[in-house]
Amino acid sequence: MSPELNLSPRVDHHLFLDVTQSLELRQQSEEVAAIAAAVRGILHQIGENPDREGLMKTPDRYAKALLFFTKGYSEKVEEVVSDAIFSVDTRDLVVVRDIDIFSMCEHHMVPFVGKMHVGYIPNGRVLGLSKLARIAEIFARRLQVQERLTRQIAEAIDEVLSPLGVAVVMECTHMCMVMRGVEKTGTLTSTQSMLGSLKGNEKEQHQFYTLLGLGKKI
Ligand SMILES: [Zn+2]
Repeated sequence: MSPELNLSPRVDHHLFLDVTQSLELRQQSEEVAAIAAAVRGILHQIGENPDREGLMKTPDRYAKALLFFTKGYSEKVEEVVSDAIFSVDTRDLVVVRDIDIFSMCEHHMVPFVGKMHVGYIPNGRVLGLSKLARIAEIFARRLQVQERLTRQIAEAIDEVLSPLGVAVVMECTHMCMVMRGVEKTGTLTSTQSMLGSLKGNEKEQHQFYTLLGLGKKI
């Protein structure tokens, strides 16, 4: 086999990667341009001048920020957890608390932020602890309502681990409540989703809330 033939598969592979990457970059820049054009229109409508110095790059910056805030649409749970599931023979409750949540409400497209606490009872398998936050991120980085976000995270954990039970509790402050309408700072919205044995078992629920330092909530 000649050296040229030996080299050619590697060169083709690199070319393929280059084409894929440049396609992704082009799609991304088209998305940014389309969103930025819409933001210019919004700036006009609120009485601003999008061409003044301080705002000239704002439509572009906002477009990129918005694509980051909603990047969960292009992410998949299986890809995030694939190499982080480990075998265990314990059935003791696992609790991870105070996971940061940054999301955007679908009614006003303004942020809601807070903390999430997760508990699950393993059934032969556990998940790398940081992956719980990554799963939350996939669903939080979309337009959401807090109730659905809580349930989707619980269901995703249930799907990837098939545990005996899952509980997700979320406490968030919604900027649409704080900055408009009732204008109440410090208002927390609490949601919870229980699946499997944690759904109907008061003793396990009590253990979960005790580990969270919340006492028995329900
Ligand atoms: Zn809202």
